[in-house]
Amino acid sequence: MTSLSAAGSHVGKVRSNNQDSGYAGTHLFVVADGMGGHAGGDVASAIAIQSIAHVDRPFDSVDEAENALRAALLEANGELAESVFQHPELTGMGTTVSGVVRVGDRLALAHIGDSRIYRWRDGELTQITKDHTFVQRLVDSGRITAEEAAVHPRRSVLMRVLGDVDLNPEIDTEIVETQPGDRWLLCSDGLSGFVSDERVAELLVEHTDASAAVGALIDESLDEGAPDNVTVVVVDIDESPTSSAPQPVMVGAAAQPLTYAAKAPKRSVRLPALLLHPLKAVTIPEDEHFEPESEEFLRELIAEDARRKVRRRITWSIGLVLVAALVVGALVAGYQWTQSRFFVGVSDGQVAVFQGVQQGIGPFPLSSVYLESGIDVDDLSPFTRQRVEATINADDLPDALSIIERLRDELD
Ligand code: CA
Repeated sequence: MTSLSAAGSHVGKVRSNNQDSGYAGTHLFVVADGMGGHAGGDVASAIAIQSIAHVDRPFDSVDEAENALRAALLEANGELAESVFQHPELTGMGTTVSGVVRVGDRLALAHIGDSRIYRWRDGELTQITKDHTFVQRLVDSGRITAEEAAVHPRRSVLMRVLGDVDLNPEIDTEIVETQPGDRWLLCSDGLSGFVSDERVAELLVEHTDASAAVGALIDESLDEGAPDNVTVVVVDIDESPTSSAPQPVMVGAAAQPLTYAAKAPKRSVRLPALLLHPLKAVTIPEDEHFEPESEEFLRELIAEDARRKVRRRITWSIGLVLVAALVVGALVAGYQWTQSRFFVGVSDGQVAVFQGVQQGIGPFPLSSVYLESGIDVDDLSPFTRQRVEATINADDLPDALSIIERLRDELD
């Protein structure tokens, strides 16, 4: 049976627990990507999804849906702060949330963090949300390009999330039109950070059923190594008034019972593994983290970015000088080799020994007369003259001189 919407979540290939959550219902669709040490991220995304899920109901207008969604995200933020107050070991936990409520041919969107909402229309994928990340700031202010942002070492630093930091976080909301044939993709950065938009668009063409598309997108992230948790929700728009999943489904951390007890960090195997197989050691990606938006912090990050650019420029300059030195060295060595060669030929009608090689570089000859023999070419037999005019290679200078002597003998 085909479904109009579906959600899926996978822990990935590197992380030990899934801190993402997702929801696909009748009217509401959400992804949340939690963060906060070894206990907290999963709790944060699960609390957020569970406190937003009640918005999965019909609305008279899309504006009403937008207001309800924004209010639900703020409630979730309050729930997170309350949980931290009750369980101080969760301090610092936070979560992204990107969600949509469908009201007929319109969608209300709400978004905070770096999970993403894309629209796929006529085979083309368009990112609708804007990441609340440090690197997006740098892109917006023209300091770096989107391509540089995608590989920037600070790309996982978030400027805004739901959590216990800000009691009134800034949430982006928006109302957009939709039409039959549109597909809406909600995903955590475990997909968007590792699978290109082009590939995502292709997979959405190939897999027309929502749950097949979700499975294919998660598989693609796993094929790319899936260093992060990956969560995907696909919502298809047809003539029906809603895009119901067969039944409302929660995935990822939200699908598990909440555990508030801090887990012991798993470190025991890493050191021996590293010692036994130093080359096979896996680099664990830098954990996502949230940095409060302060002027001082921004200045520090921007200064760090500038230092990195200077370092890169210096590395480039040294590289260029080295390459230039190698090229010059090779040319000098090549020229010196040509000057160790000798041949016999004709200069001004006389047989002569040349130092160098017959070939030149463009208009520049690589040979010069080393010794004139005093033998007139006209005195040679026609056959010998032809050979001399075509030049005779010598192994070295003594060989060249002995060729001259043989020619002299021929004359007598
Ligand atoms: Ca993530």
